[in-house]
Amino acid sequence: MKLSTKITVGLVLGIIFGIILNLFFPQFVPKLDQYVLTPVGKAFLNVIQFVVVPIVFTSLIVGFSSIGNSEKVGRLTWKLIFLYIMTNILALVIGFVTAYILKPGKTVGDLGEVAAQEAPEGQGIIDWLVSIIPTNPFAAFSTGNLLQIIFTAILFVIGIRMAGDRSKPFLSFIESFHGIIEKITFIALKFSPIGVFALISSVIATQGFDIVQKLIMYILGLIIAIVIMIIAYAFILSLIKISPIRFWKSFQPTFGIAFGTASSNAALPVAIDNGKSAFNMQEEIAGFAIPLGTALKRDGACIMQTFNALFVAQLFDVHLTGTQIVAIIISALVVSFSTAGVPGAGIIMMSTVLTAADLPLAGIALVAGVDRLTDGFRTLLNVVGNTANAVMLNKWEEKGSVDTNQKVSQ
Ligand code: ASP
Repeated sequence: MKLSTKITVGLVLGIIFGIILNLFFPQFVPKLDQYVLTPVGKAFLNVIQFVVVPIVFTSLIVGFSSIGNSEKVGRLTWKLIFLYIMTNILALVIGFVTAYILKPGKTVGDLGEVAAQEAPEGQGIIDWLVSIIPTNPFAAFSTGNLLQIIFTAILFVIGIRMAGDRSKPFLSFIESFHGIIEKITFIALKFSPIGVFALISSVIATQGFDIVQKLIMYILGLIIAIVIMIIAYAFILSLIKISPIRFWKSFQPTFGIAFGTASSNAALPVAIDNGKSAFNMQEEIAGFAIPLGTALKRDGACIMQTFNALFVAQLFDVHLTGTQIVAIIISALVVSFSTAGVPGAGIIMMSTVLTAADLPLAGIALVAGVDRLTDGFRTLLNVVGNTANAVMLNKWEEKGSVDTNQKVSQ
C-alpha cells in the first residue's frame, strides 16, 4: 500500500473509531484518551517535529546556495510575495462573503449569552517584525521559531557567499546533514498512519456534541468557505495548465498529515519531499518556497479570521461600519502571516483582529470550544495554499526560462 493510501485509511478509521467511542462508549474515553490516544498522537507529532528545524535550515542553505546568483533569489522572492498577496486577498474575501451570506452568528440560540472570558493577548505587528531577528542562532533552533530560522539561514547564505572557498567544508557538511535528515524524515513518516489515527480519533472521541449541534452553522459555514478556496486553487492551477488532480495526488500524504495533525509545521518535511519527488518541482524552489510558505502563507487563517469576526459581530448584533470592515480585512491579513503552524494558533490570534475592529472578545470562548474540529480543515487549506503557490512559482520560472531560451534561439 502507498503511504498516501495508508494515511487516508488511518484518517478514515480514526474518524469512525472516534465517533463510535463518543457515541457508544463514552465511559472509556477519558482513560483511553489519556493513556493511549493522546500519548501516541503526541509521540508522532514530536518525532515529525524533530526533523522540522534541521530540514528547514539545511533546505534553505542547500536551496539558496544552488540558486547561484542573488538576482534569482530576489526574483523568486518577489514573485512569491505577489502570488501570496493575490491569493490571500481572495481568501479574505471568501471568508467574509461566506459569513455574510450564511449568517452563522444568528443561529446559535442561547449560546450568545456566553460570558466574556479573559481573552489571550495578541502580539503587535512591530513586535512581531522585530521578533523575527533572533538574538542568538541556537535559541532560534531550540525554540523552533520558523521565521527566526529562515532569517538565520538567509544570514548564513550571505555569509557563505562572502566567505567564498572558505565556506566549502561547511556547505558540504550541511549537504550531508540534509541527506541524513531526509532519511530520518522517511522513518518518521512510516508512523504517520498510526499517528493521524490516534490524533483524529482523540479529537472526535473527546468532542462534546452538544456544543457542536449549537454551532453547526458556524462549523459548516467555515468548512464551506475553506472548500470554496480549495476549489478556487484547483481552478487557478488549471488556468495555468497544471492538472489539479496531479497536484492533489502528488501532495496527498502532505495533505493527510496536515488534516490529521492540524499543524502545518508537521506537514513541512513531507511537503518538501512530495514537491521534489512526486511533483518534480525544481529542487531550489521546493527547498525555498515551501519552508517560507509554512512560516507565512495561511489562507486558512485569512478565512478563519474574517469569518470569525463577522460571526462575532452577528452574535452581538454589531452593525459593522466601513472602517471596521477595513480593520478586519487588514488585521486578518497581517495576523495570517504571524500565525504559528501549530494546533489552535488561530484562536490565540483572534483577539488581535477583534480588538482592531473594536468587536467584543467574548466570541473567542465560544468558537474555542469547537476549534479543534475546524482546525484540521484550515490547516489543510494553509498547506494546500502553500504548496499550490510553490507549484505556481515553479511553473512561472519554467515559463520564464522557456521564453528566455526562445529569445536566445531566435
Ligand atoms: N493549525 C494551523 C496551522 O498549523 C494554525 C491555526 O491554528 O490556524 O497551520
